[in-house]
Amino acid sequence: MGGRDTDVVLLDENGVRCDGRRIDQTRRVEIRAGVLRNAHGSAYIEFGDNKILAGVFGPRDVHPKHMSDTDTGILRCRYHMSPFSVTERKNPAPSRREIEISKVIKEALEPSLMLEKFPRTVVDVFMEVLQADGGSRCAALSAASVALADAGIPMRDMVCACAAGKVADTIVLDVNNEEDQAGQADMPVGYMPNMDRITLIQLDGVLTPDEYKRCVRTAVDGCRQVYEVQKKALADRFFGGGGKEGSGDGA
Ligand code: ADP
Repeated sequence: MGGRDTDVVLLDENGVRCDGRRIDQTRRVEIRAGVLRNAHGSAYIEFGDNKILAGVFGPRDVHPKHMSDTDTGILRCRYHMSPFSVTERKNPAPSRREIEISKVIKEALEPSLMLEKFPRTVVDVFMEVLQADGGSRCAALSAASVALADAGIPMRDMVCACAAGKVADTIVLDVNNEEDQAGQADMPVGYMPNMDRITLIQLDGVLTPDEYKRCVRTAVDGCRQVYEVQKKALADRFFGGGGKEGSGDGA
């Protein structure tokens, strides 16, 4: 991030981006719910070239016990990039970046869940990035929300996520890895459409107040598109003809 000079043409004179998209177009998004037999709920997302699995376990007993809350259930999230998810081997130990992303995803999901119905328990969400290509936290958050719904955790709304950013002085939807590296700003947003509430917003880069507002509006438009794909994944899972995995007792 930060406008590094590269030979890549991020936006040509016809408004076409380096991967052939228009400025208001997301990458291809596909989600499948109920893909893991040993999880209580699960989802697999392909968001452009991001490939991410999410598995949900719980509500279940909290260990260690002192972490439990007598008034409500708690949520634990782990975002992890596999060593082969990026071109250079990534150390499998959790990095500062993964710890930060796990924290912001947990905070983005919490308002959507009725954890108060399950005091003294924990819901664990594991997100495993198999392939990363920019925007992986939005993809992981969107998959996690579908996996939570698949697990039957009572929810106020699903959280859908998409980034917007600034590339070649233009606000664009769904920043890819190349645009993230060479562009001017990247703003991941998590959103609950039915409640019209933003639960995640981060900004890497510099925007004017007007650009900031346009970026939020653009990202929310993208979130709404992801929301449709999330709903379709759940409809296919529960009303489609596919096989039913999940509701296992795995860890
Ligand atoms: P996000 O994936 O949510 O956009 P970042 O902006 O931190 O998060 O990362 C952008 C992209 O940079 C990632 O999607 C991934 O493709 C790449 N990346 C992140 N960490 C590493 C790493 N350790 N090694 C190589 N590439 C990485």
